[in-house]
Amino acid sequence: MPNLKNPSSPADGYRGRFAPSPTGPLHAGSLVAALGSWLDARKNQGKWLLRIEDLDTPRCIPGADQEIMRQLQACGLCWDEEPSWQSNRQELYKKALERLNELQMTFACTCSRQTIASALAARSVITARNQEMVYPGTCRPDEIHPYQMADALFSDVAWRLALPPNLTVEFEDLLLGKQTQDINQAVGDFVLRRRDGLFTYQLAVVVDDAEQGITHIVRGADLLSNTARQIHLQNVLGYASPSYLHLPLVLDEHGEKLSKQTMASAIHTENEGQALQELRKAARYLGLRDLPHGKETSIAEWLLAATQAWDRKIISS
Ligand code: GLU
Ligand code: ZN
Repeated sequence: MPNLKNPSSPADGYRGRFAPSPTGPLHAGSLVAALGSWLDARKNQGKWLLRIEDLDTPRCIPGADQEIMRQLQACGLCWDEEPSWQSNRQELYKKALERLNELQMTFACTCSRQTIASALAARSVITARNQEMVYPGTCRPDEIHPYQMADALFSDVAWRLALPPNLTVEFEDLLLGKQTQDINQAVGDFVLRRRDGLFTYQLAVVVDDAEQGITHIVRGADLLSNTARQIHLQNVLGYASPSYLHLPLVLDEHGEKLSKQTMASAIHTENEGQALQELRKAARYLGLRDLPHGKETSIAEWLLAATQAWDRKIISS
């Protein structure tokens, strides 16, 4: 794989990352997150890491990781250091779960989606479409004892994080300003490891960001509602919290977020001209204007100009 290292990035405190899920090729929305995080890292003489978040295997598409890497390279968005795949890092997530278990912060849950829905219906709680159901606490014991995470217990149950009462997390988003979330109210005791044995995004992303020394997370605003949970996990696991910046979302003509679920189409990067077109479109979402627009501009020149022009204050939100 060429261009794995970018020799021009000096070692610096800033470590950013792009963490796509290989559920399909990059689309206009994911390119905005890739470009925004890349520019912020480059502007701050930082490193930019690539992490493939391939834990949710039923949703992953074979070969999508390679396609994403090819698209990033076609756009000149080179990463520093070796890319990582979450599927190779399960031992780390298991250790973190065991640590939380020792801290008496986890409990086993055997609820199905249906049991949770019925428990909520019995309390007349209505969950909006596309929204996570707030866990009603069905399996949470009054007192939590550390479990022997023997294989039997480790199989056919989900593991949830027991939240303290009144858990309001506050953080300062570098673009959106002060954010607050009451996690009990928003989601309740959330899942760390699913019943089918898969570690969840929340646990894995927190472990990886900490283990990889990530200092700045620049990603789409669709992930904003996860950040409080991630900060709480960082706190209980004793990790430092990175800075967060959530970029504006790219919406389709129906005002819906572009995603693979809404069949957002892949960006075109078959040749340099196409890749540059896609970069220019992404840049407009980031508030970057007046970049070199001539046909003869190379991607390298354009990226250099974009890096010089990059300023968090101009991001259109
Ligand atoms: N893998 C996540 C996604 O593609 C992004 C994770 C993150 O940036 O924290 O939606
Ligand atoms: Zn349960």
